[in-house]
Amino acid sequence: TQAAFKRIAETDGKVEAFLALNEEEALKQAQAADEKGYADGNVLNGIPMGIKDNIVTDGLTTTAASRILEDFVPIYDATVVKKLKAAGAVNVGKLNMDEFAMGGSTENSYYKKTKNAWDLTKVPGGSSGGSAAAVASGEVIASLGSDTGGSIRQPAAFNGIVGMKPTYGRVSRYGLIAFASSLDQIGPMTRNVTDNALLLEAISGHDAKDSTSMNLEVPKFSANLNGKVAGMKIALPKEYFQEGVSAEIQDAVRKAAAQFEEMGAIVEEVSMPTLAYGIPAYYIIASSEASSNLQRFDGVRYGYRAENVNSLEELYIRSRSEGFGMEVKRRIMLGSFSLSAGFYDAYFKKAGQVRTLIKRDFANIFAGYDLILGPTTTTTAFGIGEKNDDPLAMYMDDLLTVTINLAGVPAISVPGGFSADGMPIGIQLIGNYFEEGKIYQAAYALE
Ligand code: GLN
Repeated sequence: TQAAFKRIAETDGKVEAFLALNEEEALKQAQAADEKGYADGNVLNGIPMGIKDNIVTDGLTTTAASRILEDFVPIYDATVVKKLKAAGAVNVGKLNMDEFAMGGSTENSYYKKTKNAWDLTKVPGGSSGGSAAAVASGEVIASLGSDTGGSIRQPAAFNGIVGMKPTYGRVSRYGLIAFASSLDQIGPMTRNVTDNALLLEAISGHDAKDSTSMNLEVPKFSANLNGKVAGMKIALPKEYFQEGVSAEIQDAVRKAAAQFEEMGAIVEEVSMPTLAYGIPAYYIIASSEASSNLQRFDGVRYGYRAENVNSLEELYIRSRSEGFGMEVKRRIMLGSFSLSAGFYDAYFKKAGQVRTLIKRDFANIFAGYDLILGPTTTTTAFGIGEKNDDPLAMYMDDLLTVTINLAGVPAISVPGGFSADGMPIGIQLIGNYFEEGKIYQAAYALE
């Protein structure tokens, strides 16, 4: 933990991953970890970690990178934070993100712009950009992110680390500031597959406080990390090899496919015809749920409150106008529109129907295959400022991640080499519901 703070002091002035540091409390936690000891099976004890700032932490500011939650200090821990504390992990501090997890570059934070750990002129991805950059730059050993449409996997890919979006229902969302409740999942971001599997074991499991968390025994995800993939059936959707996906990334996926074949896996081309409908369906559903979830930020109950107002209505309007950033307002408007009486059937309902078709596509493939292999992103990390005033271009980048959240299946991004200009490429492995164990097994073999 002391080394983590030393590294943060050296690098965070440049990377700007942290929104809040928890030094005094973290050193106490580390001391307690030392006293508890490091016997076998106690693997997370004393491990310095960072937490995305939309996960509530008792006594430590939690802003979701929004002005509307400036200086907000929760009075309880999210279930995942509680579980990590119980395992002895040390909470070093809170990590930057896109405001309310809306975005793909961490440029939508009200507070600061986090940089890519490999090139400070490039974005770290988003929305869990701080969680990825902190791990990739060696500030912490691991972090937690959240993934609604790619926010763990895309920044993991952009920073050359491992990021897992678990099955919807695997990890409790209690204490995760809601963006789109039917899509959100918390997951681990780490330097390697083994750490990732161990961390997911620690945060998974049923929670009476989240009625969507599944009552299933948590398997030992780290048990099958033996490099064996012989006989595994891996599907390679042909739609991934399209113009929008950079040639270098397509090559990296083909290389991974060849590696799997060499190790005895069976790789076959399949089709995923609904891929192209993911982005429109996702942005309608996610924005609709967000417009509803964000109603609670009214200037009365939490955080920022406008001053010198003359009526309750003016209090709501001014607190929200001043407290929310541009992208959040765009989503609230888009969502309110899709849900409105005159447009519900044409947008929200239609998006739900498309979601069913997407689920069917995955079910069809998983009827014959163990895993789906593909790229995580269409390009490597782009320059800071490059897409910031073009929201549609930013949305289009989510092509390869959003259908996974719509279906609710688990997926990991693992490092898959570098582009010609030295930026990391991410390879994505998608599994059937609650088959994270298989994903880890294959991801480990690729490592
Ligand atoms: N980039 C996507 C969005 O802006 C995904 C965000 C996320 O997963 N939280 O909605």
